[in-house]
Amino acid sequence: MAALIGLTGGIGAGKTTVADVFKTLGIPVFNADEAAKELMQNSLVIKAQLINTFGKQVYAANGILDKTYLAGIVFKDKYQLELLNAIVHPVTIQAAKDWASKQIAPYVIKEAALIFESAAADGLTAVIGVSAPLNLRIQRVMQRDACSKIEVEQRMRHQISDSIKLKLCDWVIQNNDQDLVLPQVLKVHEAILAKLAFI
Ligand code: ATP
Repeated sequence: MAALIGLTGGIGAGKTTVADVFKTLGIPVFNADEAAKELMQNSLVIKAQLINTFGKQVYAANGILDKTYLAGIVFKDKYQLELLNAIVHPVTIQAAKDWASKQIAPYVIKEAALIFESAAADGLTAVIGVSAPLNLRIQRVMQRDACSKIEVEQRMRHQISDSIKLKLCDWVIQNNDQDLVLPQVLKVHEAILAKLAFI
């Protein structure tokens, strides 16, 4: 199985932007947040557990996940959010491992907003962090998602602070408006290959 490298950072730090640069180097990327959304819609195990835990209104009459209903429950109550994560994360972590086992590459990347929060670090050889100043992250997300500053700040409140998260990473890519991303990605890519040569 190709070594699995985590790629994490706060909301709007630039995980997907950085992951896209790794893709141009031929490194396959698994987007855990997208996969979790897909699994919540299609995994029978997750569907049954979500309905048992949060009620059948989690899915609309047409079978589509009612994200607004679910967000209304979990973003008001930390315990409910932990329940949701306990249902979705193990299946997503397994999906990433299954996907990685099928890839042919020196290493593969798992992009996820929550890596240290959800014990998803299990099975990861190393973790790359993406960092950007808080104000820039807020501005970028407001522009990308056409939402208010308050909405972005609300989403950010559910993640552990960047300063703690980045300390746990093996490498940190600065995605501010001064440093270029490409040379930093190349340097990390070389460092990963060197690390793997010793494993
Ligand atoms: P989320 O956690 O919300 O999924 P993310 O960490 O994946 O976010 P991106 O989606 O990569 O972040 O970046 C957020 C927004 O900022 C995007 O619209 C992206 O195009 C823009 N962006 C990221 N990096 C830069 C940069 N260096 N210069 C300009 N815009 C950038």
